[in-house]
Amino acid sequence: MNTPFVEVDLSKVRDNTRTIVARLKRRGVSVSAVTKAVCGHPAIAQAMLDAGASGLAESRINNVKTLRDAGMACPITLIRTPMLSQIDQVVKICDASYNTEIVVINALATAAIQQGRVHGIILMIELGDLREGILPKDLIAVADQVVNMPGVALIGLGANFACLSGLAPTVAQMAVLSDLADETESQCGLLLKLVSGGNSANLPWALGCHAVGRVNDLRIGEAILLGVDPVTGKPIMGMYNDAFTLVAEVIETDSKSTPRADNSADPALIKLHLVPDSEDTTRLILAIGHQDIDVAGLTLPAGCRLAGASSDHLVMATSHPPPNVGTQMRFQMNYSALMHAFAAPDIITKLLNDQTPQNTRPNGGHTDYLALV
Ligand SMILES: *Cc1c(COP(=O)(O)O)cnc(C)c1O
Repeated sequence: MNTPFVEVDLSKVRDNTRTIVARLKRRGVSVSAVTKAVCGHPAIAQAMLDAGASGLAESRINNVKTLRDAGMACPITLIRTPMLSQIDQVVKICDASYNTEIVVINALATAAIQQGRVHGIILMIELGDLREGILPKDLIAVADQVVNMPGVALIGLGANFACLSGLAPTVAQMAVLSDLADETESQCGLLLKLVSGGNSANLPWALGCHAVGRVNDLRIGEAILLGVDPVTGKPIMGMYNDAFTLVAEVIETDSKSTPRADNSADPALIKLHLVPDSEDTTRLILAIGHQDIDVAGLTLPAGCRLAGASSDHLVMATSHPPPNVGTQMRFQMNYSALMHAFAAPDIITKLLNDQTPQNTRPNGGHTDYLALV
């Protein structure tokens, strides 16, 4: 196997999905599995669906294309508001999308009529993350326009937390979302089938003791993939944290003396983390670097310390006897490292416990998608 690669244990992805799906099901909440961190990898997406996710949610149309090209016909919702330059594609390969701009919804409606489809619209409401969203005071006016627009159907409301603010949602913010769902229904005279409360940061709220109100769906990525709560970074009980492992190869081992202090260099450009009088005199160089991954998001093997990294090299220091050149070393990754690893062209994916027989997946050609609307 060529290195570097990410080893993906699909049985752990399935297990994590099953755990979250079961816990949320008791609260009447479904799981839309978010595939953006793994760039819409079809086998990982399939593992999430096999374990009970009700559909997929993606932020990038290219990743949706990857899923559709692999023959996946499940509901896929675009969770980043569509770009005007990609409207035709969005209508063609996504059942629904999250939206905040009436000009975009108008374009989706025009494209949907041209394509003979009805595109589902979920209105994203700003409730405190200060990223995307319609202000609550403007919601009814926007919803009214969508309801009266042929080519699109208003199917739900959504909110998002913690992505920009780093703050988990409060009980009060979630109650506002439920109230807005009730108000939209009574003012616009329709039933909203989806109230998507947020992402992995909503889990402590959703699994807490108070009522979930109108929320009947969460969009979950990080908690399934890494088994951690994104707000605290802490592991979630009963979940695997090691479904993904980065494997990189040692290309040099040596001991190098500490370089002399040279104050002509710009401190901001020095990439070496020197530990004075350190016992860790053996250095390992691995063939991976900033171009591939977020080095700061790696958990190094026990007994190793990061000495520095450049575009293509990762240098570690250790007091242990050095491994041989050619040795493969294993790293756990946080969300940022995971997402960069999947987007890196030189890192390949190695699947463990893949249960989907390749020949059962319809391939290429025309696919009829299950419509959400
Ligand atoms: C990324 C994203 C999610 C998933 O977030 P996780 O923390 O990975 O669960 C959900 N909704 C939106 C709008 C997102 O951008």
